[in-house]
Parts: sequence; structure tokens; C-alpha cells
Amino acid sequence: MATKRDYYEILGVSKSASDEELKKAYRKLALKFHPDRNPDDKEAEEKFKEAAEAYEVLSNKDKRARYDQFGHAGVDGQPGFGGGNMNMDDIFSMFGDIFGGGGFGGFSGFGGGGSRSRGGKRVNKGSSLRIKVKLTLEDIEKGVEKKIKVNKFVTCNSCHGSGAKSGSDMINCTQCHGSGYITQVQRTILGNMQTQSVCPSCQGEGKIIKDKCPTCHGEGIVKAEEVLTINIPAGVSDGMQLSFSGKGNAGVRNGINGDLIVSIEELPHEHFERDGNNICHQTYITVTDAIIGTTIEVPTLGGQAKFKIEQGMSSGKVYRLRGKGLPDVNGYGRGDLLVRVDVWIPKEYTKEEKKILEGLKDSPNFKPNPSAKDRSFFEKMKNMFS
Ligand SMILES: [Zn+2]
Ligand SMILES: [Zn+2]
Repeated sequence: MATKRDYYEILGVSKSASDEELKKAYRKLALKFHPDRNPDDKEAEEKFKEAAEAYEVLSNKDKRARYDQFGHAGVDGQPGFGGGNMNMDDIFSMFGDIFGGGGFGGFSGFGGGGSRSRGGKRVNKGSSLRIKVKLTLEDIEKGVEKKIKVNKFVTCNSCHGSGAKSGSDMINCTQCHGSGYITQVQRTILGNMQTQSVCPSCQGEGKIIKDKCPTCHGEGIVKAEEVLTINIPAGVSDGMQLSFSGKGNAGVRNGINGDLIVSIEELPHEHFERDGNNICHQTYITVTDAIIGTTIEVPTLGGQAKFKIEQGMSSGKVYRLRGKGLPDVNGYGRGDLLVRVDVWIPKEYTKEEKKILEGLKDSPNFKPNPSAKDRSFFEKMKNMFS
């Protein structure tokens, strides 16, 4: 087993560090090496555990005194005295106490609300606001600015978000005496364990309002209609979720705003089907045009395009119009417009037309070439049944 590093060294603090300094140093390391941020990184996980162990010992008066006097020998293997045997569950439950309530939730920024520390003080984060935006392919091709009316939590005007009745003061929480935490001693098989948890009375703020604002009932936020302007980049696709930080619900009592999560819904298009960044279109030409060749015009996103059909076109041919598809959402070029051209076989004809067609029946030009094969058909069949 490798020799253990000094706990103060691990946290990067001096031997005389205050509780606040320890907490700050640990929080920084825990964030840096958190497994959520370093997936499958064994080294980060070890550092994360090491920091948790160091903090677990140094943040406890008794353990710190023993460690200062006897070093690792003073705390290792002692019942109830951390030292190398903390598992991840222990570490995460410790988080709840240090970072406040929702464990790590507030840091990830996603999902509903939560809270996080800002300079040691607990800060409420507003919940995410989720909306759906319907877009046409034309919107998606160019990118679009949307103005959307939403009903969301905004800062209360009467109290400017403080939650306090005007002229009313904030007073120290009576339950935790302003610390924001309450300490409990639990008896466990390992001995007495001291645990800290967020004060349920002030939710860790340490202060409570003397008289609540009558408009928002002390929350500092109210529901209101607001028009949000959001810029949707070009190239988005159905089901994609865009996150706009700070555009969601306002946080309780001057907290920070939650995020706006926009789900993209793509509206069906009259002319096109989408396939990734390509768009597909299908059209027909007449039998005679297929034989003698022609020029056709097809719709594109925001216009028309013309292209030549060569003499003797086979039905089902796909033409690729480069760059006429959708831009890539990450800026990697553009897709194409794929046009499948089929030959329209008339379902009805006049006597005169029938006569003309019968006149062509025995022409050698109209007889199929027995060696002509559509190889793509075999490929398609193979793919279909394999
Ligand atoms: Zn208010
Ligand atoms: Zn309290």
C-alpha cells in the first residue's frame, strides 16, 4: 500500500486553516474530481475519495486534533474515525450537508431547481422551464428567432425578490441561530456519529423574514406571462433539446434563474422528407419525356431548381442537387436535395393514343435489352432480408 499523503496537503490548505477554508478547498476539489465530470477516470475517482477522506477527518474537531497529534495513525482504523474506508455512498451523503440539500443536483444545472452555494451561502436556483417549439423545414434551414409567450416564475415586484414585506427585516433563524445547519448526534454501531444537515426552517439560508411580502407570500417570485425571444440555430432536428441558461423560472428569494429547455418539433413538409441533413423529394415525368429527355423544375427550400433529365431515363433514378439540403447544426457543411424521378404510366388513353402505342409495339427500340439489369435492386433486396 502506498504511503498516505498529508491531509492538509491534499486539500491544499495550511495547518491553521479555518473550517470555512477547509470547506472551500474541499468543495473546489470535489467539483473538479466529481465522477459526473470525470466518467471512467480512475485517477480522478481516487483524488475524489482522497479529498473526501481528508475533509471528513479535518472537518471534525476531535479527529483533526488526533490527526494533528498522531498523524494518520491517530485516525486510521478507529471506529467512527474515517480514514480510508469511506465508500462513495458515504461521500455523496456528506455532500448533502456541505453543498446543501439536493446533493450535487444544483451543480449540474439540468433538471428541476435545486440549490447551490455561492460564496458559502446557499442560493436557490429556479426550476427549468420546458417548452416545445414547432418549426418548418424553412425555419430549420435558416435558423429562426422565435418570440414565445410563457407563463413562468418571475421576481416579485413588490419586494424585489427579497420575500420580505417592505420595511421588514431579515432576522437570524431561530432554529439554527443563523448557521443554516443543524447538527445531530446519531448512535451507530461505530460509535457516536455527528451529522450536519440543512436547517429545515430556513433551508440553509440562516436568515428568515420577519414579515412576509403579501404579494408573493415570502417566496420572492410570482407567476407572470412573459414573452421570451429565443434564437434557434440552423440545422436543428426533431426531438433535439436546446438549453438556454438563465431563461427559466426565477429562483426563490433572489436566487438564480433556472434554464429554459426548448424541445424542437419539426412540422411535416408538403414537398420534402428529411433524412439527416439531406432532404428528399419525389416527382414524376411523362413516358415520352423519359424517352426523349427534358428539363424539369423542382421545389427547393426557399426556391426552385432546374435540372436536365437525359434521354432514356430509367424510372426511379435519384438526382443529387448538392448543397440544397440543410446546414449541419454544428457547422459541418450542408446536406443535399435528393430528387427521385419516376415515370408516370398513364392509366387511361383514347382510341387514337392506343393506335399510336400499338404502332410502337413492334419497334426494336421499345424491346427491353435482356442484358440490362438494375444492380441496385439486388442490393436493396439483400439489405432488406439480411
Ligand atoms: Zn414579494
Ligand atoms: Zn435555520
